[in-house]
Amino acid sequence: MDLKLYRKKRHFDQTPEPRGSDEQEAGPELRYVIQKHAASHLHYDFRLELNGVLVSWAVPKGPCLDPSIKRLAVHVEDHPLEYGDFEGNIPKGHYGAGTVIIWDTGTWVPTDKNPQHAYSKGSLSFILKGKKLKGKWKLVHMFRNPKTWLLIKVKDDYARSLAEYDVTLKKPDSAVSHLSLEDVAKQA
Ligand code: MN
Repeated sequence: MDLKLYRKKRHFDQTPEPRGSDEQEAGPELRYVIQKHAASHLHYDFRLELNGVLVSWAVPKGPCLDPSIKRLAVHVEDHPLEYGDFEGNIPKGHYGAGTVIIWDTGTWVPTDKNPQHAYSKGSLSFILKGKKLKGKWKLVHMFRNPKTWLLIKVKDDYARSLAEYDVTLKKPDSAVSHLSLEDVAKQA
């Protein structure tokens, strides 16, 4: 886990995204964030703090509270912890060009005894304590493709059927600034 690939893809004199420090201060709790990103295709970037970085997946359809629905989560490069505070516009012509809002933020609690080992084995179980997402979730690697994982809600009191409640539609805006993607795009 390191930030080499993250930094290689970006020009920090031209994008407002953070370069990230190498000596990351680990807090008492592990950070969790989902960024809604209107790049060439809208997607949700799901990030969990692990070993001083945000391990990351791009979830095209976003999270779903329905345990019967598995959402594709494409593994992407580690991001610096500071990225969890980023909301803004990545300029045209740059990697990931488009608007980013912090769709959800909070902390996560691994329910695997050794989360680093669970992650490397391709099956991570955890509890989210976000503003929007709460309760039990898991991420499972589909071994046919090295980048393909599934994000799945585990049945508990926070589960809802998709027909009854679509969290991405009911709560579309930033969990921090409460701005919409369109509001933030206008600030570019
Ligand atoms: Mn993205």
